[in-house]
Amino acid sequence: MLDISFTSTPNPKPLPDPDTLVFGKTFTDHMFLMNYDAGQGWHDPRVVPYGPLPFEPSCMVFHYAQEIFEGMKAYRTPEGKVQLFRPYENARRMNSSCRRLCIPEIPEEDFVQAVKAVVSADKAWVPDKVGTSLYIRPFIIATDCSLGVHASHSYLFAVICCPVGAYYPEGINPVKIYVEDEDVRAVKGGTGFTKCGGNYAASIRAGERAEEQGYSQVLWLDGVHRKYIEEVGSMNVMFKIGGTVVTPELTGSVLPGITRKSCLELLRDWGYSVEERLISAQELFDAARAGTLEEAWGTGTAAVVSPIGLLAEGDEKVEVSGGQIGRLTQRLYDTLTGIQWGTEPDPYGWVEPVD
Ligand SMILES: *Cc1c(COP(=O)(O)O)cnc(C)c1O
Repeated sequence: MLDISFTSTPNPKPLPDPDTLVFGKTFTDHMFLMNYDAGQGWHDPRVVPYGPLPFEPSCMVFHYAQEIFEGMKAYRTPEGKVQLFRPYENARRMNSSCRRLCIPEIPEEDFVQAVKAVVSADKAWVPDKVGTSLYIRPFIIATDCSLGVHASHSYLFAVICCPVGAYYPEGINPVKIYVEDEDVRAVKGGTGFTKCGGNYAASIRAGERAEEQGYSQVLWLDGVHRKYIEEVGSMNVMFKIGGTVVTPELTGSVLPGITRKSCLELLRDWGYSVEERLISAQELFDAARAGTLEEAWGTGTAAVVSPIGLLAEGDEKVEVSGGQIGRLTQRLYDTLTGIQWGTEPDPYGWVEPVD
């Protein structure tokens, strides 16, 4: 149990208009901070007014990217309550990222307590309009003032929050995806299974190029064979081929998404045959041509599920589900969002109330 101190902001900001919320631009009144120093461990857990953090230019994170983060949301139920979705999964994944990046772990209970403390302080910021939520960004940065390449001896854990609008204000529109054949996101032995800023830095170029060509995102291939599908943009990816749901297995270069895990648990519960295995881009395009690629979608906290309506590789383009959202994709979306926003029962015990 953390003993969290609380300093209330002297200048509360006006709550933003829920109709014009832009992702990641407006932050709430408070943030959670906790420091780590070698010999002392994690200390000084506190909720303080949101604001700038002072660091020297030599701060290690600026140079060597020893940094990890998480992404999760708080949801407002029809009764006005606020709840989190599987926050212990985020805690576990953050610690897995910590181990890979040589960052000291945070006990799962403490992580969840920290998230709840800041969400509770800024509860009024959890919007109640349909489809809106409070996005939560926990992260840890290396804070030694030193240019030597080694694990830092000091760290800062922070949790910041921003209210976000509905991801699909105009209904769910399937996206167009381009198979990336030059850049790779991750390799086995690297950091692909962690949420670290460095992965994102390396993925920006492909995303920019896809956008220039009129695609929403890229389909990432494995870094060794340049053959097997790994993820779509910053989401996990699933395909329904001939009635079976297939998704790339977690081989070390794929991020273990909590939405991915939840979808797989729902699908197995619903009696679908589900395969976690290698899927080549070739298999996918062959299935599309043979008419057995029935649905394709990405999964992630931000969008929940994002249907894929078109796949392109080089000059070849194939349509999926007639460019519409597939039935199973829609069912996953409805079930997950129903549990998250508390409009449907939660038989799996996935939601966690914030008092
Ligand atoms: C965060 C993330 C995901 C999705 O994970 P969720 O826990 O479902 O939000 C997928 N791929 C990458 C690369 C990610 O960073």
